[in-house]
Amino acid sequence: MSRSSVQSGWGAPELLHRKKEGVKVSDNSFPHDSFDDLLAANAEYQKSFKYSGLTGSAARGLAIVTCMDSRINPLSVVGMRSGDAKILRNAGARVTEDVLRTLVLATYLLNVDRILVMPHTDCAMARGDEAAIHKLIDDKYGVNTSSLEFKTTSDQLGALASDINRVRSYPLLRHGVVVAGAIYDVKTGTITPYEG
Ligand SMILES: [Zn+2]
Repeated sequence: MSRSSVQSGWGAPELLHRKKEGVKVSDNSFPHDSFDDLLAANAEYQKSFKYSGLTGSAARGLAIVTCMDSRINPLSVVGMRSGDAKILRNAGARVTEDVLRTLVLATYLLNVDRILVMPHTDCAMARGDEAAIHKLIDDKYGVNTSSLEFKTTSDQLGALASDINRVRSYPLLRHGVVVAGAIYDVKTGTITPYEG
């Protein structure tokens, strides 16, 4: 455990959890039992792989910041495919320091000149109850996660507005990049532009 992880409160719960599961922290062998279905699927994928000609630049100049929700397929939602756009995902589609860091690189070096921040309906992070999520984890796993900020909100549109502004006003972002917001509806597939 590093000194910084102790200070930030990150390391202890993780180590505790791993100890409980009987997994050695230093064991880096590939856990085939858990991942062999992926390897099998990839063996098929390789057979018809057709993206070898792509570069790492976003061919259609887009970055999407969206939630990790497994109902969202960000490229399909906006009619794009591999190679077209950069996709940044986290819980709640929030603009964090790491999202900003990535957008700086994407806008200067990877052809991104437009950014869509896209939270979604029925998002657990938009139910506003940060304390309840900490309690849920504590009750189920006995781990206190209160040192983490999950960035839940009870005002999803307000959070979106503030996140859009955060990107627009970020001084290190490439000048001229266009930033917009939209809400994705997980029941209909519709995206509704946020008009402010
Ligand atoms: Zn979500």
